[in-house]
Amino acid sequence: MSKEDRGDMDHIKFLGTAGARVVVFKQIRASGGLWFQLKGKRILVDPGPGSLIRALSSRPKLDPTKLDAVILTHRHLDHSADVNVIIEAMTEGGWHKRGVLFAPQDALENDPVVLKYLRGFLRGIEVLKEGGRYLLDGIEIHTPLRHRHQVETYGLVLDRRIGLISDTLFFPELIEAYRGLEVLIINVVRAGPRDERIQHLTLEDAREIIASTRPTKAILTHFGMTMIRLGPREVARKLSEELGIEVIAASDGMTLPLP
Ligand SMILES: [Zn+2]
Repeated sequence: MSKEDRGDMDHIKFLGTAGARVVVFKQIRASGGLWFQLKGKRILVDPGPGSLIRALSSRPKLDPTKLDAVILTHRHLDHSADVNVIIEAMTEGGWHKRGVLFAPQDALENDPVVLKYLRGFLRGIEVLKEGGRYLLDGIEIHTPLRHRHQVETYGLVLDRRIGLISDTLFFPELIEAYRGLEVLIINVVRAGPRDERIQHLTLEDAREIIASTRPTKAILTHFGMTMIRLGPREVARKLSEELGIEVIAASDGMTLPLP
């Protein structure tokens, strides 16, 4: 299959796999977010620092003027730093009113991460809420529950088959919310023990989530330093063996075709 052919098939491209401050701000891994192509629609989730450059320098190039939506799971900079420049690119500086932004309320008000002058460039803004179901040209975007994180944060279920567990402390309700999906992407920032103060998933949490939700395929991403030191690829191999479920460690620029 040529690379051009893949452009029309459903897939996810990882424009970054960095999580936590050190890995992001030293760019030990890139932090451009996740680019989804689903049923002909293009959705960029969590455009962190460098997202625009990562999209444009991808091979084949990802064209931000073709985006249909941008989703912020939460306002932290590693998930939102490029949202304004992406909105400018998507709308060609406001000349073409298009695209929908999905974001929690607190990303839009009180020290907003989305600049007000850009909002009118968009076709629409949807405020994410717990239990929300939103339609983007026939694709369902579902936010099953609010995560436990320092700021208002939601995970996603796209098209009823692809889950993204964004930043959160582990809590048991995550299991029901993300059970039995085709692909489950998990932000696994830490290798150490669970720590209520840090509010990120650890490797042990990811193991429990994958073992209990039983996705067809699990993808680990958003790595902090402790995960990078362990070697995410080796970690994923061991988890696959142990759980009998395909587990993949995402890498920068990785493309995952969707069934
Ligand atoms: Zn965060």
